[in-house]
Amino acid sequence: MTDQFGRNINYLRVSITDRCNLRCFYCMPQQPEPLCHRDILRYEEITRIAAQAALLGITKIRITGGEPLVRKDCPQLIAMLKQIKGIQTVAMTTNGTLLEQALPELCEAGLDAVNISIDTLQEADWCRITGYDGNMPNWPDVLEKCIKVGLKTKVNAVLLQETREEWTQLAALAEHLPVDVRFIEQMPIGQGKTSDCNTAQVVLQQLSKQWPDLQPAEEREQNSPARYYRSKKLTGRIGMIASLSNPFCSTCNRIRLTSTGQLKPCLSYGQHTDLRTLLRSGASDETLRSALRECIYAKPRQHCFAEQTAQAEQQTMNRIGG
Ligand code: SAM
Ligand code: SF4
Repeated sequence: MTDQFGRNINYLRVSITDRCNLRCFYCMPQQPEPLCHRDILRYEEITRIAAQAALLGITKIRITGGEPLVRKDCPQLIAMLKQIKGIQTVAMTTNGTLLEQALPELCEAGLDAVNISIDTLQEADWCRITGYDGNMPNWPDVLEKCIKVGLKTKVNAVLLQETREEWTQLAALAEHLPVDVRFIEQMPIGQGKTSDCNTAQVVLQQLSKQWPDLQPAEEREQNSPARYYRSKKLTGRIGMIASLSNPFCSTCNRIRLTSTGQLKPCLSYGQHTDLRTLLRSGASDETLRSALRECIYAKPRQHCFAEQTAQAEQQTMNRIGG
C-alpha cells in the first residue's frame, strides 16, 4: 500500500531479539538489560503480523536483531515466513559470527539473502569494536560459503573513525567475490549518538584512489538505500548508504517491527503502534490489519536525525534492528 506521501511500502524489517553475542560500541550498551522472554513476540505472533502485512502489499521481510542467530530456532521462523502468500523474499542481517554452522538449516528454511555486518578485516580492531574476545571469523571464507549455497550476499560496514585506514581493504572483498560492499553513515541513535562518524563522500574519495575508474553503476535498484559504484577491477559493487549526508527518505519503502511488537514507520522517530498489546488482547485479523494500515499511512515524510526533536527515537539500535 502507499503511505500519505505516495511511497509504496513493501518491505518489513523484523527484529526478533534485542540480545547479541557482540557489543559493537555504536549499537549496544556495554551492560545491556535484556528484555524478558515474555515481552518478545513469539514466532507465531510475528508470522501472524507478517501475514496481515502481506495482505497490505509487503513482499520482502528482513530478519534482524540484536543478533538474529542467537535466538533459538531462527530457521523455523524463516520457514514460517516463506510460507506466507505474497512474501517473495526473506533476508537476514547478521553479524556473521554464528552463520557458518547455521547455513544448512537457513538454506533449508528458504532464506534468500544475507547481509553480513563487517566493519573491518583487521582482527584487533574488529575485536575492539565488537567487544569480542575470540577469533575473528575468516570473512572471505564465510562469504564464499554463503555465495556457494546460493544466498545473495552483501557486506555492511558502518563508517567509523577508527577504521578509516581499513576501508579500501574491506572494499577489496568485492575484487574477487560477487558481493556488494556497502558503507553506512553512522546514525545518531542510542549509542551511535556519542561517537564520531564519517560521510560517504570521504570513503568514496579514498576508494577512488585505489580504483580510479569507480563510477556510479548504471543500474539503479528500486528503493535501495544504497547508491552503487562499479569498477572494471571489481566483481561486486561498492555501495554508499548516506542516510545523513544524502537521505533516501523520498523513496523509503520500509517499516519496522521491534522484538516487543512495536510497529515503527520510521527508524528515527519514537512513534509506533503497539501490535503486541493488540495481539495479546485477542484482536481479529481485520483489527490488526487496520492498525498496520494506519501506521503505514502515517509514515513521516523524512527522518529527524538532523533536528533531534522531542519525538526522536530513544531506544538503542539493538532493540530496533537497524
Ligand atoms: N546483529 C546484526 C548485525 O550486526 O548485522 C543485526 C542487527 S544490527 C542492529 C543491524 C545493522 O545496524 C548492522 O549492520 C549494524 O552495523 C547497523 N547499526 C547499528 N548501529 C548503527 C548506527 N548507530 N548507525 C548505523 N548503523 C548501525
Ligand atoms: Fe550486535 Fe549487530 Fe549491534 Fe553489533 S551491530 S552489537 S552485532 S546487534
